[in-house]
Amino acid sequence: MRPQILYPLFASVTSLPGIGPRLGKLFEKLTGPSVVGLLWHLPTGLVERQQEPDIPDVADGATVTLKVQVTVHLVPQRPRQPYRVSCVNDTGAVDLVFFNPRVDYLKNLLPPGEWRLVSGRVERYAGALNMVHPDYILPLERAAEIKKIEPTYGLTAGLTPRLVLKAVAAAIERAPEPPEWIDAHVMKRHQWPKWKPAIETIHHPASGADLGPDTLARQRLAYDEVLASQVALALVRQHNRRLAGRPCVATGALTSRVKAKLPYDLTASQRQAIEEIAADMASPQRMLRLLQGDVGSGKTVVALFAMLIAAEAGGQAALLAPTDILARQHFATLEPMLRAAGLRLELLTGRDKGKARERIVEGLASGEIPFVVGTHALVQESVSFHDLRLAVVDEQHRFGVQQRVALSDKGKGVDLLVMTATPIPRTLMLTAYGDIDVSRLTEKPPGRQPIDTRTIPIDRLDEVAGGLRRAIAHGSRIYWVCPLVDESEVIDLAAASERYEMLKNIFGLRAGLVHGQMKAADRDKAMAQFQAGEIDILVATTVIEVGVNVPEATVMVIEHAERFGLAQLHQLRGRVGRGTGKSSCILLYQTPLSETAKSRLAIMRDTEDGFRIAEEDLKLRGAGELLGTRQSGLQEFHIADLAAHADLIQIARDDARLVLEMDPELVSERGLALRVLLYLFEKDAVVKTIRSG
Ligand code: ADP
Ligand code: MG
Repeated sequence: MRPQILYPLFASVTSLPGIGPRLGKLFEKLTGPSVVGLLWHLPTGLVERQQEPDIPDVADGATVTLKVQVTVHLVPQRPRQPYRVSCVNDTGAVDLVFFNPRVDYLKNLLPPGEWRLVSGRVERYAGALNMVHPDYILPLERAAEIKKIEPTYGLTAGLTPRLVLKAVAAAIERAPEPPEWIDAHVMKRHQWPKWKPAIETIHHPASGADLGPDTLARQRLAYDEVLASQVALALVRQHNRRLAGRPCVATGALTSRVKAKLPYDLTASQRQAIEEIAADMASPQRMLRLLQGDVGSGKTVVALFAMLIAAEAGGQAALLAPTDILARQHFATLEPMLRAAGLRLELLTGRDKGKARERIVEGLASGEIPFVVGTHALVQESVSFHDLRLAVVDEQHRFGVQQRVALSDKGKGVDLLVMTATPIPRTLMLTAYGDIDVSRLTEKPPGRQPIDTRTIPIDRLDEVAGGLRRAIAHGSRIYWVCPLVDESEVIDLAAASERYEMLKNIFGLRAGLVHGQMKAADRDKAMAQFQAGEIDILVATTVIEVGVNVPEATVMVIEHAERFGLAQLHQLRGRVGRGTGKSSCILLYQTPLSETAKSRLAIMRDTEDGFRIAEEDLKLRGAGELLGTRQSGLQEFHIADLAAHADLIQIARDDARLVLEMDPELVSERGLALRVLLYLFEKDAVVKTIRSG
C-alpha cells in the first residue's frame, strides 16, 4: 500500500487549483495523470524580467515589467480584432493586447487613470510597443509577487507557459517532507540537500547554470531515481532467487556427440561462456545470464550447447528470435548439427498454420520435440511445453521484459539465457537488469580479417559505384542499406526503391530489394538469392540489421550513415567480415556534417570494438538515443541522465546491494524510507515481492 505521506502527489492533476477536466487532459498528456509528474517536469530554460526599463529602450521580444498608467480601453470595431488597453508612463506608451477577453473583468482590473504593474513579453509593431496577454497585472503595492526570474517548461498544444508554471508551483506546494532514504554518509559526502528543498531548488533556477545536470539538487534527485531503480532490481533478483530453480546436470552424453560433428574448434571465449552457463544451469538457482558478443562472434553455437544441457537433464529448450528470417537462419544453422547427433529440432513461426502448426504444438506439449526455434509464435498462450528447462532469447533488445517472462513462465524454474550483439555499456546494463550475470565473447572465430571502413560524402556516389563494379567483378557480394528516413515506412520504402532502381540501372538485373513491408516469403526469396549468389547487390532497409549470415558478402554500403546510431552502424557493419575474404564498409554521408556527427563517424572508422563504440556513443549522444530506449526495453529516466550521472548508478547499485543484505525486508528505519522512495517512483509491484510486503 502506498504510504499516506505520498497521497497528495498521487492525486489526479485535476485536484490542483485551476485545473479542471479540460486542462487535466492536457496536463495528463504533458506530465501524466497525477500531480507527481509535474515535479519531474524539469525547467528547460528561464526568463529574466527587465525591471522598469525606459520604454524606448525595450527590445522586441524582451520580457519586461513596466509601471504604467491606464489611459483608455479600445473596444474592437470588427470581430477577431483584439481588445486593446492603452497605457503610458513618462518614458512612453504601451498597448496591452487581449484576444477574446472577458471585458467586465478587464475593466475592473485596469480602470482608466489607475497605475498598474504589468509584466510580460513585448513586441514592437510599427514602432509601437504591445504586450499580448501580460503574465502579471497588479496594483503597485503587490510588486513582490512578480518574480524577476522564472523557469520555462516544455509545453504541449493548449497549455501556456503560465499554466504550466502555476501547476508546477502548486505541485511543489503539495510535496511532503519524506523521511530520508539516502544513506547519511552519501548525503554528507556529496553535500546534497534534502528531498523537498532539492525539488524547490530545481524548479527555481537563478541562472542558466542551474539548469544543468551537475547541480547538487539535480544530482540528489537523479540519485533518488537511480537508487529506486537499483533497489527495485535488487528486490526482483532477491525474489527470483527464492523461486526455486532446478539443477540441470549435464551428463555430457549429447554435448560430446555434437562436439564430435562440429566442423570447427570452439574459441576460448566460447568454451568459457559454455562453462559459465553449465555452472549456472547445474546450480539450484535460476540462471539469468546475458551472452554478449559482436555479430559474427559465434553466439549461436554457445546457445546450442546450453540447449543440449537442458536436454541431457531430461527437459526441453526453446530459442526465441525476433524475426522470421532470423528464426529460419538459426534453424538452418542448428538443425543439421542436431540431426547429425540424432536430435530433433523444430521451427515454429507465425507462418505455420493448421496441421503443420498443430503437429509442432502437440510435439512440444508431449515432450516428443526436445528443441524448438521460433518467433513470437512461441510465446502464444496455446503453446505449452512438457518440461521447458531453458529459454534462450536472441537479440534481446527487440523484446520486452514481458515476452522474456512469458516464455520463462511456460516451465518450472526455467533458466534464461539472453543473447545480444548490442554492446550495452555497463551503466546501461545495470539500469536494465541490475546484477545480471554476463558472459562475453571477446574474440572472433579465427580467420576473420579487419573490415576496412571509409566515410565518403554522398556527392561522390559515382566513384563509389565504380568501385563496387570492380568489387563485383572480383566476386564480391554487396549490401546497400537505406536508412530510416522517418518513422514512416512509406517514405523509407520510397527512398530504398529509388536507390534500387538506380543501382539496377548500373548493375543490371543482379540487384535485389528487401524491405519490411514485403511479404515474408518474397523477402526470404530475395535473401536466398543473395545467399546463393544469384544477385550481387542487395538493397535493404534496416530489416537486414539483425543476424543475417552471408559469409560471401564483403561490402557494406550504408547511406546516410549520419542518421544511424553507432550501435546500429556497428551491427550493420557486422554483416560483412564473416567469411575469410577481405571486407569493407562504406559510410555515405550527407554534407554538411555537425561536429558530433563527424566525431561519431570517425569512431566507426577507427575501431571495430563494439564496447568502445557503445561507450563513445553514450558519451556523445546520451542513453536515450543509443539504443532507441523505447524499443530496447531499457528504462527511461525522468531526472537522471545516464551519460552525466553514470557514477551515481554505480554508487546506487552498491548501496542497494548493501541495504538489502542487512535489511532484506526493508523494515529498518531506512528500509521504511526506501519503501517510500519505491512508491514515489511507482515501483509498487516490486514492493509487493517483499516477503513481509
Ligand atoms: P553471432 O550470432 O554471434 O552473430 P553466429 O553464431 O551466427 O554469430 O556465427 C557466425 C559464424 O561463425 C557462423 O557461420 C558460425 O558457423 C561461425 N562460427 C561460430 N563459431 C566458430 C568457431 N569457433 N570457429 C569458426 N567459425 C565459427
Ligand atoms: Mg546471431
